[in-house]
Amino acid sequence: MIEYEGKAKQIIPTAEPDVAIQRFKDSATAFNGQKKAELEGKGEINAAMSAAAFLKLESAGISTHFMGLENARDMRIKRLKIVPLEVVVRNVVAGSLSKRLGLEEGVTLKFPIVETYFKRDDLGDPLVCDSHVFVLGICSEETLAELKTRALQVNSVLGPWFNEAGLTLVDFKLEFGFDESGELLLGDEVSPDTCRIWETESGRRLDKDVFRRDLGDPMVGYREVVDRLGITIGGEHA
Ligand code: UDP
Repeated sequence: MIEYEGKAKQIIPTAEPDVAIQRFKDSATAFNGQKKAELEGKGEINAAMSAAAFLKLESAGISTHFMGLENARDMRIKRLKIVPLEVVVRNVVAGSLSKRLGLEEGVTLKFPIVETYFKRDDLGDPLVCDSHVFVLGICSEETLAELKTRALQVNSVLGPWFNEAGLTLVDFKLEFGFDESGELLLGDEVSPDTCRIWETESGRRLDKDVFRRDLGDPMVGYREVVDRLGITIGGEHA
């Protein structure tokens, strides 16, 4: 039984009420679902990369919903009540930051930026400032501060991991939620669907921008990312 069907993942219940299966699909969408494709192998790559990233983060003391891989595309996760915010961290100018502020893509920021977007497909996931978050009652001031702190911690773990593999973590999106005991955990996924990853030397795009912008076969870049990070498909190598 599929409990929830998202654009790139499914949530499947288990016999344990607090545990679910997060299944990574091959489907890719961009521009709020306007552009669609099936990318063979994407689900397995994203599952393997997310598993490796969650293990890396857990070993750095950052709590996540990750419980283990069931098989190459199914991840056991703790169920969370998701805070409806996309928390974006940026190290280098790209995407909407470049468009919104007129900054040149590829310029390294003086310091990492954290942004929050309200998860509302019908509104196109708008950028929200702190006051918007409170007016909308999305979460408390304390939770918002914690989300930003954790997002920067994630950046300081993933950034060097990528750098050592000759990759630049340009920006990425995170989602957080509360487990049944009220603990705030990192949820969702960490993959080339949700991170901008460039080959450091050449600036070659190895992430979903290849699909968004029709720059070639997106799976070539996705595979290069897992290969460079030493991640085995179907395994849990941190
Ligand atoms: N992102 C994501 N899901 C979204 C929007 C953004 O995973 O719904 C990721 C995106 O892959 C990038 C980062 O968040 O790594 C920043 O995206 P940006 O705001 O530049 O938006 P985009 O240009 O992707 O529309």
